[in-house]
Amino acid sequence: MAYRLIADSLCVEIERTEKARLTHEVTKVVRGWNGLQNKNTRVMVKVKNLHNTGDRKPKNYTSWKEFWKAKKGYWPNDCSAYDCNGPADVGAHVKKVDSYDNKWYIVPLCSGCNKRTDTFEVSESRLVPVNDND
Ligand SMILES: [Zn+2]
Repeated sequence: MAYRLIADSLCVEIERTEKARLTHEVTKVVRGWNGLQNKNTRVMVKVKNLHNTGDRKPKNYTSWKEFWKAKKGYWPNDCSAYDCNGPADVGAHVKKVDSYDNKWYIVPLCSGCNKRTDTFEVSESRLVPVNDND
């Protein structure tokens, strides 16, 4: 009888933890899917990394990541490069390619994409312009 009780309570416990784990997994998948959808449906723009910007620091923030976060009110999980699934690590300096717009922008990129020298696409809504007084 005692064994039966132990077995029953073990089953309940396994069921509970398994349910919690699955709920967590499903939430992760749904979040990832939503993020991907957003990335794919937004207007894309071609950009290039601006190098030699390491000395330029934002006036009122500790980093360009903090600058971007303050302007947008959030920080994305994913790198903004369309062809990349890496995590958003840094607020990178970029410039639009094939455009009369010569402004500098900050965009969340993974550390790998921050080193890219090619042209890549990001969603326009992820660009935060940098002004002379920032
Ligand atoms: Zn990336």
